[in-house]
Amino acid sequence: MEKLTLYNTLTRQKELFEPIHKDHVGMYVCGPTVYGNAHLGHARPAITFDLLFRYLMHVGYKVRYVRNITDVGHLVNDADEGEDKVAKKARLEELEPMEIVQRYTNSYRKNMSDLNVLSPTIEPTASGHIIEQIGAVQKMLQAGFAYETNGSVYFDVERYAKQHAYGTLSGRKIEDLYSNTRELDGQQEKRSGLDFALWKNALPEHIMRWPSPWGEGFPGWHTECTAMSTKYLGTRFDIHGGGLDLLFPHHEAEIAQGVACFGHETVKYWIHNNMITINGQKMGKSLGNFIQLDELFTGTHPLLEKPYHPMAIRFFILQAHYRSPLDFSNEALQAAEKGFERLMNAMALLKDLKPADQSTIDVEKLCRDCYEALNDDLNSPILIAHLFDGVRMINSVKDGKASVTAEDLEKLQQLYAGLVTDVLGLQPVSGTADGEGDQLFGQVVDLLLTLRQEAKARKDWATSDQIRDRLTAMGFEIKDTREGAEWKLKS
Ligand code: ZN
Repeated sequence: MEKLTLYNTLTRQKELFEPIHKDHVGMYVCGPTVYGNAHLGHARPAITFDLLFRYLMHVGYKVRYVRNITDVGHLVNDADEGEDKVAKKARLEELEPMEIVQRYTNSYRKNMSDLNVLSPTIEPTASGHIIEQIGAVQKMLQAGFAYETNGSVYFDVERYAKQHAYGTLSGRKIEDLYSNTRELDGQQEKRSGLDFALWKNALPEHIMRWPSPWGEGFPGWHTECTAMSTKYLGTRFDIHGGGLDLLFPHHEAEIAQGVACFGHETVKYWIHNNMITINGQKMGKSLGNFIQLDELFTGTHPLLEKPYHPMAIRFFILQAHYRSPLDFSNEALQAAEKGFERLMNAMALLKDLKPADQSTIDVEKLCRDCYEALNDDLNSPILIAHLFDGVRMINSVKDGKASVTAEDLEKLQQLYAGLVTDVLGLQPVSGTADGEGDQLFGQVVDLLLTLRQEAKARKDWATSDQIRDRLTAMGFEIKDTREGAEWKLKS
């Protein structure tokens, strides 16, 4: 097994990754709340943990990867007030909440598959695990770290903090948290503003509701992740991931809930990805810069100069280290597009390189450098820089300025197939490389252009124009030449 080190948010240092069970890894990542289309912000955690998932499998681990779907209990306001996000959307669109859940779960999965993000091995929903959540709340009540008021159950942070550290993950001091919490204005149910809901009593107008020992209600948002992670991964598991925005209160609450339920922390490595900004600004609904993934792929958001292929977006995200902030702009994405294309072109060349009697390039060192980068807390930008060193080698072998033995060539091919295709999850896009599907695709376009030539020859201008206009509308650039016509995909 490779010597992988990962930065643990809890201990604030890089640690050698040693799974609890020899070859098996349990990984839990907080998934989306499905009440709207996925946006750029969803792409980063998905791709970050997809990289980790793929790399762990690449080096030989069996991975059980659980990523949940939040379909109930995520309230509009994090202070346990306001409407449920899913229920609110259902009300606005006059749909059944489960129609909202289904619609946006489907669209999330479609977007993830476009980005070549592998499906998790288990994708549990909060509404499908009400019994487990009630069980967890009961455990916390029995342990004395929760209390019931008017059919709602809250976690007693003050009581917990007397016996255990609270705030370690996010580096917050309990005293500061108290002074920063606003006074409980008329909210008589909670003993303190720091307490969070484990179960909420459902008001008469609330649609999503289930019976419980405390009356009809619904689970609090933090409860689901404790209940579902431990159900599928056991009460001690290896990796818990998510975006930095979930550090507090969500993950801090999860640690406390785990200790309250099982008497010990449940997670060995806490991993967090940093956030995406847009032209230097935080993403926010009020700023009008919430770019949905579908809008990115089709170029239909006012901030976009053109559509961007999901592979270019994936490459763009992988070009930054997951713990660094990443700023989105048209220039940055267009630079990523070019880099991605250069990498794919080299991969296509690599297939047809001819071996020689000796190597003038150091393939061994290239392999070492690449794996060292990945093992250093998944340093994908350094990995990509080394892969571009390799691109230069490939190009100089192709130009006859360098040579490579058959054995080294095979190593080089394996390196790129393993790291670019399997681990980085980058695939050629139609028009940039010569995959089998692309060849067929090219032949179909050529056929259409031949039909257009024939229409022209018999002065059937309507058909000829129609073929040209339809292809142009689909994103092809058609140029008439003396021999007929040339085409390329508009970049
Ligand atoms: Zn979660």
